Amino acid sequence: MMSNSFCCLILSVLQYHLTYSYLVPFSSDMQRISRFTPTLLRIGRKAEYIYNQRTFQPACRFFTTNSAKHNLSEVRQKTLQSSVGMPLNVLIVGAGVCGPALAMLLQGSDPSHKITVVERSPSLRTTGQQIDLKNQGVDVLRKMALLDTVKAHCVNETGLEILDSDGKPLALFGISPSGQRRITLTSEYEIMRGDLVNVLYKAGLEQYEKLKHTLRKGGGLAYEFDKTITELNQNDDGVDVTFSDGQQKHYDLVVAADGQGSKTRRLAFGQEVSDAAWNPLGVQAAYFSIPRIEGEGGLARSFNALGRRLLITRTSGRPVTQVLLFTMGDAEKLKKSYKESIERQKEAFADAFRDAGWQNDRFMSGMESCNDFYAHEIGQIKMKQLSKGRVVLLGDAGYCPSPFTGMGATGCLIGAYVLAGELARHGSDVPGALRAYEDIVRPPIAECQQLPGASLGIFFPSSKLGIWILRNALWAVSKVNIAFDWSQSENKGGWVLPEYPELNLAS
Ligand SMILES: Cc1cc2nc3c(=O)[nH]c(=O)nc-3n(C[C@H](O)[C@H](O)[C@H](O)COP(=O)(O)OP(=O)(O)OC[C@H]3O[C@@H](n4cnc5c(N)ncnc54)[C@H](O)[C@@H]3O)c2cc1C
Repeated sequence: MMSNSFCCLILSVLQYHLTYSYLVPFSSDMQRISRFTPTLLRIGRKAEYIYNQRTFQPACRFFTTNSAKHNLSEVRQKTLQSSVGMPLNVLIVGAGVCGPALAMLLQGSDPSHKITVVERSPSLRTTGQQIDLKNQGVDVLRKMALLDTVKAHCVNETGLEILDSDGKPLALFGISPSGQRRITLTSEYEIMRGDLVNVLYKAGLEQYEKLKHTLRKGGGLAYEFDKTITELNQNDDGVDVTFSDGQQKHYDLVVAADGQGSKTRRLAFGQEVSDAAWNPLGVQAAYFSIPRIEGEGGLARSFNALGRRLLITRTSGRPVTQVLLFTMGDAEKLKKSYKESIERQKEAFADAFRDAGWQNDRFMSGMESCNDFYAHEIGQIKMKQLSKGRVVLLGDAGYCPSPFTGMGATGCLIGAYVLAGELARHGSDVPGALRAYEDIVRPPIAECQQLPGASLGIFFPSSKLGIWILRNALWAVSKVNIAFDWSQSENKGGWVLPEYPELNLAS
């Protein structure tokens, strides 16, 4: 014990000495200080790490052989046994779905990583409607030992009903099992976006509580809200980041997990490259919740209105009804409204859905008073490269597939799993890990981004005749019970998750 403390002291003195002996001569030049400080601190951290590796391994053996006595959880024991490589100082921008997932996976692989997640909103953003979890996304959650928790939060949607022009049921589609993509809205695992975000966020913090006794100095997981990045400067061994509160810090890796409109992507790749990655699908969408009425059970309902408009409701046994409005008309007016207030966006959608029929009056008055309105242009992000230097794109920021694929959350989870796995496998070779991540996730990204049919336009007829043809085609499909399989399912040789024992996962 005594020698440990002594060595720690020596290392701290070394760290202090290295920092200040180099910094003092430049004390008038603040920019150089901020450039040198992180490098010097990292030298100290590396020395400390080498020291810790020497003393930590015997401690691991002690803990693992006395697991009953110390009541260590399985994950903690595994983590103690397999900490390899250099701990990284990682910044994750965005606490949506993939940010918290990556944070948890990375921390489980090596608790001495220092992981910071910054989120622009003042608190966790738990709004959003029902999202699907499919195929390998379900496998990732199983591996993270979160599938049961997720299942407990899943909503109970029993299928999709296609309505006729009077709003009466015309055709019925059931549930698509995980592993298959069919012509229905409902997957085996459907969860409210906010519930998934919460599960991942809480599980990461709970894991941190379990692991924190094993942390070496500097390691940890912290969420910082109401904060974003304003500047990124790459250098050979990392990224200098300036934050909205004026702070400047150095990271070994910056992960853009800030969604489809990613600012991190823009800062790292430039406005032009970032804009060129956006592939609009010509559909404007709004989502919100209204009070449920009698007769709305577990079935989702879909109603095509004249003028390329589609109205969908989903109740899923919950006390509120989710309304989803999609239109291929009024694009310019709606797009302009996204830059304005929520009230302006609501007005623009109310104009676009005037006289849509079915229960539109109810939806419009519900929209006026709802507090979870979210509207956006639907599109896909297709980046030629997923990383630039030490900034890497994850989830919607790098490969948003659009809600029409139902694969957004699944793509996110695949990305988080592979990125964490490759970082764990490559140790301190971050560029190597980023190259491997890109190579491995390209095929599943392509699968996730497959759209239903050559053109979405077939789902948005403009005339009475077009709507009649679509409805009857759907009726025929439902009757002969054909499952349109739009992609390779996992059962038919689709992409399979790689195994990463380095992640210390439950399975
Ligand atoms: C509020 C909201 C509601 C949504 N509703 C639906 C829905 O109803 N149906 C659907 O299919 N998909 C919805 N989505 C998209 C869906 O969550 C994603 O397609 C998918 O889950 C991928 O998740 P992600 O983690 O990549 O991105 P997201 O889930 O979009 O998360 C990105 C996170 O980054 C934060 N962020 C953004 N910019 C910055 C910044 N500059 N600095 C710091 N943090 C930043 C955001 O606040 C958000 O928390 C919604 C997304 C959001 C943010």
